[in-house]
Amino acid sequence: MSSDKTTNQPALELHSRTRAVHAGSRRSQYGEMAEALFMTQGFVYDSAEQAEARFIQSGPEEFIYARYANPTSRMFEDRMASLEGTEDAFATASGMAAVNGVLMSITKPGDHIVSAKALFGSCIYILDLLVKFGVEVTYVDGTDLDQWKAALRPDTKAVFFESVSNPGLEVTDIEGVAKLAHEVGALVVVDNVFATPIFSRAVEQGADVVVYSTTKHVDGGGRCLGGVVCGTRQFVREVLEPYLKHTGAAISPFNAWLMLNGLTTLDLRVRAMSDSALKLAQALEDHPKLSRVVYPGLPNHPQYDLAMRQMGTGSTMIAIDVGTKEEAFRTLNRLQIAKISNNLGDAKSIVTHPATTTHQRLPEADKLALGITAGLLRISVGLEHADDLIADLRQALAD
Ligand SMILES: *Cc1c(COP(=O)(O)O)cnc(C)c1O
Repeated sequence: MSSDKTTNQPALELHSRTRAVHAGSRRSQYGEMAEALFMTQGFVYDSAEQAEARFIQSGPEEFIYARYANPTSRMFEDRMASLEGTEDAFATASGMAAVNGVLMSITKPGDHIVSAKALFGSCIYILDLLVKFGVEVTYVDGTDLDQWKAALRPDTKAVFFESVSNPGLEVTDIEGVAKLAHEVGALVVVDNVFATPIFSRAVEQGADVVVYSTTKHVDGGGRCLGGVVCGTRQFVREVLEPYLKHTGAAISPFNAWLMLNGLTTLDLRVRAMSDSALKLAQALEDHPKLSRVVYPGLPNHPQYDLAMRQMGTGSTMIAIDVGTKEEAFRTLNRLQIAKISNNLGDAKSIVTHPATTTHQRLPEADKLALGITAGLLRISVGLEHADDLIADLRQALAD
């Protein structure tokens, strides 16, 4: 088996489950089995001449400062790039550092961006920040290709959307939006957190730049924050890296090391979680207390066909509507297994009341437009046995 000496990658075409275990591994002179944690911000040069040369142009095994790059962080970046199928990636301190890095590095005053309106609260904050700096932002219903088409202009710099929205679980057609955006030369930036690189490689479907909060399924244990931007080498190194490395968005090598370990089981975990999510959604579908059970893997979901085409699954998140805030709080307070919290993608199932937590600050009309009703609960399905989760939700919903 031939291999690329710098990254120890076999030349075989590998499944993502295999790449999640091996891709990006670098071994030191000790030949350690596990990925090493290079807990260092600096690197020692053999001579002044070497230091000078490295600042002019550093090679793939040469590092300068952990704000720019670090061997452990680089392993994580290479593994994420391999999973997403991009040439390169840059790891960041959080998912928001990744989103901010992409949007800030590509825009200047006068530029135009089209974005889906169903977005994570902090993403809306960043778009508002761009507006403050003179960028024009047009919001559309992400599920409606006609609205994308109408909003796109010859001067549109980029489009931005979550492939599956938080918390409404609307699915956006990556291929459809990308086709329209590319007609006007706009960069397609996708926040693919809910889909994970296991269910949907957004780049294969037309995205140019894919962003993940690796705080979620990649870490998988709710331990640390992290993010990553995947894209072409030219984009990552020439557009993104200068912005991120000078503004201090780099991931901690320790967090990158935890994320690398998280990745080895990502495929197994998200498949098990999505199997349980389907069972839970089916078990709750006809529950008399629920006016809505939103799960992209149920045939009654408005984008069911698209979800199956794009992800092959409904993924790991469900939203249910219990009617009122009082009923939502009562349900939360009766849960015995699932935890009340606001993370997602964790091994532990988590239930969130978006209207009073993650999306609390949104004006009432905006909440309703995004389906964030007083009774909406978002469920992140974890790794517990599906039957236990079903029993927990049933008893919490009982009279
Ligand atoms: C959590 C999340 C983010 C932000 O990630 P952090 O790691 O918390 O900064 C961005 N987009 C989506 C869709 C998320 O779920």
